Amino acid sequence: MRAFTYERAIDAEQAVRAVARPGGRFIAGGTNLLDLMKVEAETPAHLVDVSRLPFMEIADTEEGGLRIGSAITNSDLAADRRVRERYPMLARALLNGASGQLRNQATTAGNLLQRTRCYYFYDPSKPCNKRAPGSGCSALQGFNRIHAVLGASDACIAVHPSDMAVAMAALEAEIEVQSASGHRRLKIADLHRLPGTTPQKETNLAEGELITAVVLPPPPAGGQIYRKVRDRASYAFALVSVAALVDVEGERIRTARIVMGGVAHKPWRALAAEQGLVGAAPVADSFAAAGEAAVAGAKGHGHNDFKIALASRTVARALADAAAQKKG
Ligand SMILES: Cc1cc2nc3c(=O)[nH]c(=O)nc-3n(C[C@H](O)[C@H](O)[C@H](O)COP(=O)(O)OP(=O)(O)OC[C@H]3O[C@@H](n4cnc5c(N)ncnc54)[C@H](O)[C@@H]3O)c2cc1C
Ligand code: SF4
Repeated sequence: MRAFTYERAIDAEQAVRAVARPGGRFIAGGTNLLDLMKVEAETPAHLVDVSRLPFMEIADTEEGGLRIGSAITNSDLAADRRVRERYPMLARALLNGASGQLRNQATTAGNLLQRTRCYYFYDPSKPCNKRAPGSGCSALQGFNRIHAVLGASDACIAVHPSDMAVAMAALEAEIEVQSASGHRRLKIADLHRLPGTTPQKETNLAEGELITAVVLPPPPAGGQIYRKVRDRASYAFALVSVAALVDVEGERIRTARIVMGGVAHKPWRALAAEQGLVGAAPVADSFAAAGEAAVAGAKGHGHNDFKIALASRTVARALADAAAQKKG
């Protein structure tokens, strides 16, 4: 691990100023960044601790949603009564992530910006375009069981590992950020990028932008669920996960939302599959068709071929569960 300096910011202005130093980098819970520093996949020269900034509140918004401070821990967010009652898919996604100890330390912003778990990214002896641009992608011809089947490129087939981000994408959250040039908001759908030819650039945040909050719109109508499939029942990243929302009116589906995790470089929204459900009967055949549509264009790389059928079936099952919830 390389030497670095450390400072704890007391307000956002100080944090933004401090991170502008050469090699400056925010650190929150440190549960991902420190691991990456140990293997020198990340080598910041100056750490700016943002875990004690005054962004630890979950507040009701005037519109009927919630504004979640970026330094709120995953445990506190999952335990909040308003989140459990109004956004159960989010509470469930959070509780499906990592372990109790990690959730006590991990923050909202850190979770969104955690980096891929691709084995080669963590192994400095292997080529990896994300860690060392231009060096190649070891996963393409290597062991790629956990890798992407949608939206990947010849440069990188890594997936984004966050559970929380998948639920937030289905809830159409927005991210508030602050920098030396002011404040802005962006949709969570626009936060993460696909790898293309620049897999090292994972988000649309500018250098030094600080996430201050995540804003959830009012809870959408309908039943909602987060379903995660993994190698063991706890303490494992998703092979495939699905955040599903189904609003049934009478005998027809009024709206549906489907976002998949574990399949792409960002939470993957299946808009065509959602559209296909509008007006359909909430029955197994409709959900199976949506599952098929959700993986249209998916491509496996050998070891991960199984993910395509798994994702399709998980979508169908999650939709059925979400619709059943609505029926009560
Ligand atoms: C063994 C293990 C298992 C795990 N399992 C899961 C799982 O199943 N599901 C899951 O979703 N996650 C899982 N995680 C990941 C864990 O949830 C993340 O490590 C954690 O959420 C990161 O949050 P943090 O606050 O510790 O971030 P840090 O490690 O402190 O930071 C992560 C990144 O965010 C940036 N950052 C932090 N705060 C800000 C801010 N306010 N503004 C801008 N940038 C910021 C940092 O610069 C860094 O790049 C697991 C982790 C481990 C170690
Ligand atoms: S999939 Fe991406 S992160 Fe993994 S080795 Fe290839 S370039 Fe690196």
